[in-house]
Amino acid sequence: MEPGSSTSGARAIAARGWGYPHGRIWPVQIGRYTVSVHNHGFFRLDGGAMFGSVPKALWAREAPPDAENRILLATRSLVIEDGEHNILVDLGCGDKWSEKTRAIFRIGEIPPQYPNTPTPQNPLPGVTDVILTHLHFDHAGGVSRLGPSGLEPCYPYARHYVSKQNLDTAKHANLRERASYLAENVDILEQVDLVLTEDGQELFPGLTVHLSHGHTRGLQWIKLTDGATTVAYPADLIPTSKHLPVPYVMGYDMCAERSMEEKARFLDEAVAGGWIVVFEHDPDLAAARLAFDERGRPVVAERIDCAN
Ligand SMILES: [Zn+2]
Repeated sequence: MEPGSSTSGARAIAARGWGYPHGRIWPVQIGRYTVSVHNHGFFRLDGGAMFGSVPKALWAREAPPDAENRILLATRSLVIEDGEHNILVDLGCGDKWSEKTRAIFRIGEIPPQYPNTPTPQNPLPGVTDVILTHLHFDHAGGVSRLGPSGLEPCYPYARHYVSKQNLDTAKHANLRERASYLAENVDILEQVDLVLTEDGQELFPGLTVHLSHGHTRGLQWIKLTDGATTVAYPADLIPTSKHLPVPYVMGYDMCAERSMEEKARFLDEAVAGGWIVVFEHDPDLAAARLAFDERGRPVVAERIDCAN
């Protein structure tokens, strides 16, 4: 939150859709909360790394790669407002990249099919609470920015939430994850109001965080429910709708077997509960209700699009 800004600023922005087209259910009302989504922008990662052991012949049909084998990905936040709090879940890649890195990941690409995509804006106005699913750069990049006197928090007045296990993991990143856990997104948390969360913790009435460890240790996925309607935000547990099949685990994941177990459990609950599942990285589908087909495979039962 900028000094002097008010929560009504965020509401007004959310009502406009933050420039990003909302689909027919957005925003959805869950008890006292108005829930919507916001894409911080697109970027690209290697398609092979995104689909792990899945052959390119299969994933390339669903997620067409560019000439350098990179696929288009969104960085879609969950936006939760209750009149008192404006809660943002994950923050995208942020905007403090060198030209070289920006080009490697195509950060800020505006694809022709989504010409109204906003360029990364840091910070968004009126945010009171920031929940970080984990501290990989494409989720926590928007936590800090380069100000006139160096690195500074984007949301110095907001309360931030990250799991204790993920913060520990990020601070002592192993060789494989070191390129994803950047000090500029981790150390900056010492300068903000930080809550270290535990598995199953209720951060707000009806809003709980749930730890998983297959993608990275301590990833917290989000569930928000009023008993009748539930929105879930699995983050990198299911980054896109193309990753619904249980064996479609990212090459980035630290433990594929654990990812599969955690995903299968999540899918069982999501289908049984009729949850609206938000896909953080899906370029084309913001969310969906899910089902199992006649062979028991998880599929999209109801598309909840952003634009169309
Ligand atoms: Zn990640």
